[in-house]
Amino acid sequence: MMELVDMTALACTEKIRKGEISAMEALEAVLSRIRAREDALHAFLTLDEEGARRQAEAIQKKIKSGELTGPLVGVPFAVKDNICTKGIRTTAGSRILENFVPAYDATAMENLRKAGAVLIGKTNMDEFAMGNTSETSFAGAVRNPWQEDRSAGGSSGGSAAAVAAGECFAALGSDTGGSVRQPASHCGVVGLKPTYGTVSRYGLIAYASSMDQIGPITKDVRDCAAVYDAIASHDPKDATSNTRKRDALSYAEGVEGLRVGIPSEFLSESLQPEIAQAVRTAADQLKAAGATVEEFDLGLCNAALPAYYTIACAEASSNLERYDGMKYGLRASGESLSEVYRQTRSQGFGAEVRRRILLGTFALSEGFYEQYYLKALKLRRLVRDNYDRAFGRFDVILGPVAPETAPRLGGQTEDPVRAYLADIYTVAANLTGYPAISVPFGRDGQGLPVGIQLSAAAFREDLLFRAGLVLEENHKVVEHYGK
Ligand code: GLN
Repeated sequence: MMELVDMTALACTEKIRKGEISAMEALEAVLSRIRAREDALHAFLTLDEEGARRQAEAIQKKIKSGELTGPLVGVPFAVKDNICTKGIRTTAGSRILENFVPAYDATAMENLRKAGAVLIGKTNMDEFAMGNTSETSFAGAVRNPWQEDRSAGGSSGGSAAAVAAGECFAALGSDTGGSVRQPASHCGVVGLKPTYGTVSRYGLIAYASSMDQIGPITKDVRDCAAVYDAIASHDPKDATSNTRKRDALSYAEGVEGLRVGIPSEFLSESLQPEIAQAVRTAADQLKAAGATVEEFDLGLCNAALPAYYTIACAEASSNLERYDGMKYGLRASGESLSEVYRQTRSQGFGAEVRRRILLGTFALSEGFYEQYYLKALKLRRLVRDNYDRAFGRFDVILGPVAPETAPRLGGQTEDPVRAYLADIYTVAANLTGYPAISVPFGRDGQGLPVGIQLSAAAFREDLLFRAGLVLEENHKVVEHYGK
């Protein structure tokens, strides 16, 4: 029989709402899975068992009195450690914030609390969300639940590993260039990067503000839609938050008549053949369900990555100026003020973060600004124009999430450029601001999960859920890996 922790979030809350189990039982089940697996996986940076028990008790009362009835009541969930949680340490995976305890909740976090979900802890990640293997955390790497010598993907690797291993029912990640979708893909779970501005960034520790977006990581598409629905809201505290009123989510309509496009460039030789095959199989399944599928030339595919890294580093260099040892976080000692700055930042930031601050400062400096930063902004615009044209012809674009399945741990840290190349399929959604989802789609010859990416025009998450559901139902992908 399937263990409770291997069920979806919606299945778990249904049992809670019907009174078959209590919120506390759901929590204890998850905590016992954590005890069994966490030493090996290292998905969490902070666990709050006592706090979670208090929440579960309080929520149970509200369920009884009928005050809380939503689809996520009582569900134990985890949050990436760059999302602020009131009274609970939030490190962003960095030594510089090792002891930082926020005085407030991020809006997405607050929304989940209102929905009655139970926060169990904060998940491990690449330092300041810079990376795609979850190896640059000050506390050490996350391991992939499928094969522990593999990366869980990044930068939200802790969230994806925790969901895949049944250490929680759902989690939040953040995605600036693929950090929700890639770990979801490598761990065999679902990850959504919502339309920019639909989920508030208030309380999300900034990496590249024009692209950062919080998104759900879940066991299946229905859970993903439910978490998305709970966290998306207009928020006056985020100046880029969207005021558009969202339509009620209906993802049960199927894909009859849906126009699906596959960029031919995506299926190049550098793509692992099993992933290319998975994209083709997914296309066949969508076709069999009533969609039309066509390959087309998207164009400018090679421009997205350099534009992304130039803009991301530029914004990061500016966003990370605040860590100077004065306001909060680590403060090193030094003889003079500038020595304190220098020591704090040298000791507090890891190598990858320092590299990006240097690159970004360079791209923004006088004399190079036009040559790099401004050019990257122009490319960004061209990439978006291309996607707008494509979304005139197609409702959904289908493709891979990453060029390879989960890499071996330690393989990429020596070669940053090779690591950056793994983002080739994911960064466009952040440059454009449009939504994209990663849906698990079987495994490769080594038994590692393969993910499929679907993207759509702004605010069309509904299309992603509809198409994602068809792929998921055909594949019955909700398998779990508890030991
Ligand atoms: N891998 C990309 C980067 O390092 C994306 C990270 C992210 O989405 N946070 O910038």
